[in-house]
Amino acid sequence: MTARSMRSLQASKPLWHKLQHNFAMIQLKSPADIEAMREAGRVSAKALRKTGELVRPGISTAELDRFAENLIRMEGGIPAFLGYNGFAGSICSSINDQIVHGIPSPAVILREGDIISIDTGAIVGGWVGDNAATFAVGEIAPSTRRLLEVTEACMWAGLDAARPGKRLGDIGHAIQSIAEAAGFGVVREYVGHGIGRQMHEDPNVPNFGDKGKGLRLKPGMVLAIEPMINLGTEKTAGPFQDGWAVYTADGAPSAHFEKTVAITKDGPLILTAE
Ligand code: MG
Repeated sequence: MTARSMRSLQASKPLWHKLQHNFAMIQLKSPADIEAMREAGRVSAKALRKTGELVRPGISTAELDRFAENLIRMEGGIPAFLGYNGFAGSICSSINDQIVHGIPSPAVILREGDIISIDTGAIVGGWVGDNAATFAVGEIAPSTRRLLEVTEACMWAGLDAARPGKRLGDIGHAIQSIAEAAGFGVVREYVGHGIGRQMHEDPNVPNFGDKGKGLRLKPGMVLAIEPMINLGTEKTAGPFQDGWAVYTADGAPSAHFEKTVAITKDGPLILTAE
């Protein structure tokens, strides 16, 4: 366990996705480690895809959560989020202006025109996989559709920059430039992260940055790259009463796409893949 994750367990409020400046404890993975992480990634990816297929008007986020938990366990995994710093779900289900960390609830029923960001993580053999995507509930506004498309494109650009010799700032820069060219806000306060035996390891992986700046990327680093992009302001609000869900400050929609990627000498290897 890293010093950072011990601190996060000690903290009463989660450091989950919260931007920290600490590159001190990066755990490089061997090729065998990376191979083992593919199974956690596969289960995480299957849970995300299959849960996403259930998204429709009238379903509750608690039903999505139950489905995802069952699937992860059937596949031999443990839901990585359940009980993490006290989180009450196996998925994060963040609706519309919720950016991340929405708690599944039987009281949250999806409606036509909503968007829902689903984040799923699984632990298999002690390794963690983590991925997310934002889904449309029926027909959505064209501006929101564009937000989803651009945020997914941001994620792919970030993944493509995850190569030896590049720097952390290259990942952030790739994401930020696409989002801002589209006129969208890049969330600053919540960021991606290293991942391995812990869900959140060093380094932090901001979705903004300067080309050629920051930590040099090396084979064996495994990162969760996860742009959180807002239709309006980049500013966030909350968490409020439930202690978890983070909102856009202006109430405009937010999208979130994430994959776990290993940096290898041959380039990015996406681990959350079936
Ligand atoms: Mg993550």
